[in-house]
Amino acid sequence: LAADALKTIARDEQIKSHISNSEELYPLLYRAARRYITGETKEDAVFQAVRLNMRGYATSLEYIGENVSDERECTESAKEFLRLIGMYGTAGRSSTISLDLSHIGMTVDEELAYRHLEELIREAAIYGMTIMISAEESFKASRIIGIYKRAASSYPNVGITLQAHLHRAESDMEEIKHFPGRIRIVKGAFRESEADGVPRSEHLKAKYLRLAETAIATGRPVSIATHDETIHREARERGLIALPNVEVEMLYGIRPDLLKGLKDDGYRTRIYLPYGKEWHLYFFHRLSEYPPNLYRAIADMAMP
Ligand code: FAD
Repeated sequence: LAADALKTIARDEQIKSHISNSEELYPLLYRAARRYITGETKEDAVFQAVRLNMRGYATSLEYIGENVSDERECTESAKEFLRLIGMYGTAGRSSTISLDLSHIGMTVDEELAYRHLEELIREAAIYGMTIMISAEESFKASRIIGIYKRAASSYPNVGITLQAHLHRAESDMEEIKHFPGRIRIVKGAFRESEADGVPRSEHLKAKYLRLAETAIATGRPVSIATHDETIHREARERGLIALPNVEVEMLYGIRPDLLKGLKDDGYRTRIYLPYGKEWHLYFFHRLSEYPPNLYRAIADMAMP
């Protein structure tokens, strides 16, 4: 319940404007959020990304946002992604750029999302970058897969994220596995009904690993995107993460010790770096999926 409440809070326009306008609340929450986000600007994200590249990590950058229902705002978001690609590309670092299709137009019109996506894919190609499409709630999955397949039919530098917790994950994998681009496998951040998904469990771990094996067997680049040590261990024992097309990808600020250990052992590792003024959306997700983070956030806010 608390988790659901946090996600609702994150999307409530009134609460959002209250936080943004509060001289007391905003800096306090922002201080706690900084554990998981790089900052509010692309300069913040690129700065951290370059720093992490120098330490041997690959990176994925996200300008945070979702469910934008105003066409002009979607176009502004796409322009911000273009500037981000230009800035990071010019810094000479190859990275992936992650985005929600509902941030760049899908809520308004699928064609708008596709137009923006295509523009971003072309710009990214100039710098050898890949655009990674994020997974959103299950009711959007068919539209997201459809747009991905259309883009991947023409461009190799676009990838897709699949959520292992959804019942449909295996059939989605069958549908997309013959297209090019990176496949990122996550457990899934959204609470889904029993009819749509399975909860965190041993069953989900087994499902995750089966999905990862199918993706890896295609020979396409694959991101094992989880902080679950038991999945890393199992993937290691099965010889999966040592394969040249496989990397482990984790979120900025979550279990950095674990990722460093994998990097030091010679495995390919990637860090996902989000930024943007909509940081509360992302921050409340991270709090809601792992309750001890609430205590961390309180401690972070209490720090002078
Ligand atoms: P869990 O079983 O949730 O957690 C395993 C362990 O990891 C926990 O016991 C804990 O030790 C640690 N952990 C997990 N979460 C946290 C946290 N917030 N804070 C501190 N420790 C934690 N989800 C989507 O729905 N769509 C996406 O497009 C998407 N993209 C992602 C991209 C990347 C690179 C990653 C790593 C995740 C992404 N996610 C996405 C989120 C994902 O679906 C999960 O919600 C998230 O990764 C937590 O699940 P887990 O796999 O780590 O396993």
